[in-house]
Amino acid sequence: MDVNSVEPRLSAPDKVMSNYGLSTHEYFLEKIISTIKKQQSEEAFYVLDLGVVINLMDTWKHNLPMVQPFYAVKCNPHPDLLATLVAQGSSFDCASWSEIESILALGVSPDRIIYANPCKACSHIKYAAAVGVNLTTFDSVDEVHKIRKLHPECSLLIRIKAPDESGSRWPMSSKYGALPEEVPKLLQAAQTKGLKVVGVSFHIGSKSHNYQAYKTAIQAAKAVFQEADRLCMPPMHVLNIGGGFVSDALCFEAAASAVKTAVDKYFSKEERQNLTMMAEPGRFFAETAFTLATNIIGKRVRGEVRHYWINEGFHGSMMRVDRTALVESCISLKCMSNNSSDDNEKNPGIVVCGKGVGGARTYSSIVFGPTCDPIDKVLEGHQLPELEVNDWLVFQNMGAYTSSCSNKFNGFGAAKITYLTD
Ligand code: PLP
Repeated sequence: MDVNSVEPRLSAPDKVMSNYGLSTHEYFLEKIISTIKKQQSEEAFYVLDLGVVINLMDTWKHNLPMVQPFYAVKCNPHPDLLATLVAQGSSFDCASWSEIESILALGVSPDRIIYANPCKACSHIKYAAAVGVNLTTFDSVDEVHKIRKLHPECSLLIRIKAPDESGSRWPMSSKYGALPEEVPKLLQAAQTKGLKVVGVSFHIGSKSHNYQAYKTAIQAAKAVFQEADRLCMPPMHVLNIGGGFVSDALCFEAAASAVKTAVDKYFSKEERQNLTMMAEPGRFFAETAFTLATNIIGKRVRGEVRHYWINEGFHGSMMRVDRTALVESCISLKCMSNNSSDDNEKNPGIVVCGKGVGGARTYSSIVFGPTCDPIDKVLEGHQLPELEVNDWLVFQNMGAYTSSCSNKFNGFGAAKITYLTD
């Protein structure tokens, strides 16, 4: 991915008219507008605000000081995001050979990596063994056999199904996590093969607003610790509480509080002293740090309805983004040069358009992505002001499972340029 940095302080905008009461966004919008002017091309781009990431790490350390974050690389592997997280002391959750390789290339020691994929290809396990990544997850007997053969020194966490995934936008348990009745057999299989099962991991589903889910999952994890004792295995000491966190301050505090309450309830003081707690947050660090600016590349007027095409979409950054989140975060920017007869206008004034506040006429609009796939629809029935080709639609909170989930259908892919802000 190309990474172009702009000067940390973007110059004061010469013509920002926030005419619909968007003042709280002004500073942020100034950055986007200055960048559009600076770029002088229609290409969609991201703005990555590293300050957001640093603040979120402070928030994490304040609320969950006893839980070491292993950032889930899959969520967004942008090199500047990863480098910032390395500098902030994060560890990393990698799901493949290539993710492990990219984190090691940043100078991260292998003991700051968990290979958190319960079902791994043999060649990837061999690679993990060769580079000294010695912690992984499993939830099947077949995985035990592979690890015994290819990486017997590896410590294991048994991944269990979180009992309650309600309230999560992206549940995981239909694919991963041992059922309670499967746990004894899995532990025995590892024990028989002489492998070290050092703890338990779970994931309550991504983007969860059900904090009680952490409580029931920690209770279930404790039951697995007890089962290991019953089987006379060496005592477990690692509790991996996975991801699911969102970065909204109140939600995160509530989730952190649920985690702390549950650990206090289900683990005795003595057990807590020996407990190593870790988590695999992805969305928490990545989501709000990225903003996506897209250019309107096509328009059709159909009666009272407006159809727009933008140069990003389902196959680029938006496959795994809720449509409601896109609606809530969408801001329209009108380029004044669109009304100018001078096609060579190089420094257009840009107007921030609200959602019809202040009497501006809006139209029910459909916004399509650039590919020929009919599923490539970004917004439908959303009210937008009258926009023209070459105006911009900006989407905030576009860092989680966006560019990392893109494909090259029709030769497009996700926005390639990322500008950094201070
Ligand atoms: N850990 C594992 C094993 C995952 O599969 C995922 C997401 O798919 C994460 C962590 C990150 O989850 P989140 O982005 O909800 O924090």
